[in-house]
Amino acid sequence: MGEQNWAGNLTYRAEAVQEPANLGELVDIVTQTPRVRALGSRHSFSPIADTEGALVSLARMPRQIEIDTDAATARVSAGLRHGDLVPALDAAGFALANLASLPHISVAGAVQTGTHGSGDRIGSLATQVLGVELMTADGEALTLRRGDPEFAGAVVGLGALGIVTHLTLQLEPAYEIAQTVYDGARWDDALARFDAITGAGDSVSLFTTWQDADTIDQVWVKARPGRANADAVLAAGGREADGPRHPVPGVGPEPCTVQGGVPGPWHSRLPHFRLEFTPSAGAELQSEYLIDRRGVPAAIDALRTLAPAIAPLLYVCEVRTMAADTLWLSPAFGRQTVGLHFMWRPDSAGVEALLPRIEDALPESARPHWGKVFTMDADRIRSRYPRWDEFAALRARLDPRAGSPTPTSRASAWPDTQGDRVYVKKT
Ligand SMILES: Cc1cc2nc3c(=O)[nH]c(=O)nc-3n(C[C@H](O)[C@H](O)[C@H](O)COP(=O)(O)OP(=O)(O)OC[C@H]3O[C@@H](n4cnc5c(N)ncnc54)[C@H](O)[C@@H]3O)c2cc1C
Repeated sequence: MGEQNWAGNLTYRAEAVQEPANLGELVDIVTQTPRVRALGSRHSFSPIADTEGALVSLARMPRQIEIDTDAATARVSAGLRHGDLVPALDAAGFALANLASLPHISVAGAVQTGTHGSGDRIGSLATQVLGVELMTADGEALTLRRGDPEFAGAVVGLGALGIVTHLTLQLEPAYEIAQTVYDGARWDDALARFDAITGAGDSVSLFTTWQDADTIDQVWVKARPGRANADAVLAAGGREADGPRHPVPGVGPEPCTVQGGVPGPWHSRLPHFRLEFTPSAGAELQSEYLIDRRGVPAAIDALRTLAPAIAPLLYVCEVRTMAADTLWLSPAFGRQTVGLHFMWRPDSAGVEALLPRIEDALPESARPHWGKVFTMDADRIRSRYPRWDEFAALRARLDPRAGSPTPTSRASAWPDTQGDRVYVKKT
């Protein structure tokens, strides 16, 4: 049996997973192997990290976090998991604008697929990126910074442009968040005040099993002090939960971050799940479609119609929001976005038979999450990304088979082979 992804629904075709210990070893692998692709923490359900050649994991590379307190930035090793990164940021008094639902995912893997949390005014995790350091296919260094013409093409790069070795992230002062869960809001009443519901906090998630197509089982509201306003949730029939909840009904809440409105550090409230727990109801699959926010009523109507087919295959569905961005292959490119996420039971055949019905029923703005299971064909996906051709051109330029890249420095000039460090620059 070959190497598998986290969910075990995919066996990578690659003959080996290589684990270089420094940039010199990575250069050797990249230049001596015909086809190489980076592997993150293997949390994608789609074959996006797969290749016929070699997979390269950066898990054994030096773990570097360089915090510039004046600039409020951190330059970090690409293979770090958010769970490794955020305590260091917090200890230095800094935070990220958002996190995904669990902290076990690698920083680069998350960014490369447009991974997101929730928040009307917060972009996907890729929007935190100020700089991308890539090793291109011939072992050269290419650094792109926000403002460079091709930067917006490289951040959500699907692992197709090279190996990201470091990312520079935008920080902000550390903050507290409290999260409160509400049971039993009604869809009709919630759709009538959708903006107020998703604006009830800084980061709001709606969870439903579609067992009852009229009810939103849980609304999770995460807010900075003084910024929660759950009036609309209550007006839609929501009631504050009488104890901690797991998003999947019937599963104990122990893996979940603290609820009940108790404030705590940003990194221990924004993810739904604690780092030390395996965040799963057992084996699972996931799909997600990111739609133009204006299409929410039609999309929810479509899902309510399909609820009898969806519910038997589903653990839970989560609705999240994110701000528009300008990153070419970001599912949130160019429009305020709502994510319709499905956590499926591990029935690949059943899920794959149902997905075309969901994809046909959702508005034309629906873009599948790059790291999750979908059946939409390439032409349809391409037509939903206005900057697709520019990405293809960028990829062709960075792929030596398609022409010579234009590196900014030689491989021999690669810095940072020394080892682990957390460095805080103070003035
Ligand atoms: C339990 C669970 C919860 C999840 N929660 C969320 C969520 O809240 N929000 C959300 O949007 N998604 C979520 N996802 C999806 C997940 O965030 C994405 O699939 C993400 O890409 C996984 O990152 P990874 O590090 O595991 O990357 P992998 O799956 O290993 O790889 C994903 C892609 O990133 C590329 N890549 C990885 N490292 C590098 C690198 N160093 N350089 C270049 N390319 C690289 C790979 O080549 C591949 O194309 C979840 C997945 C799971 C299993």
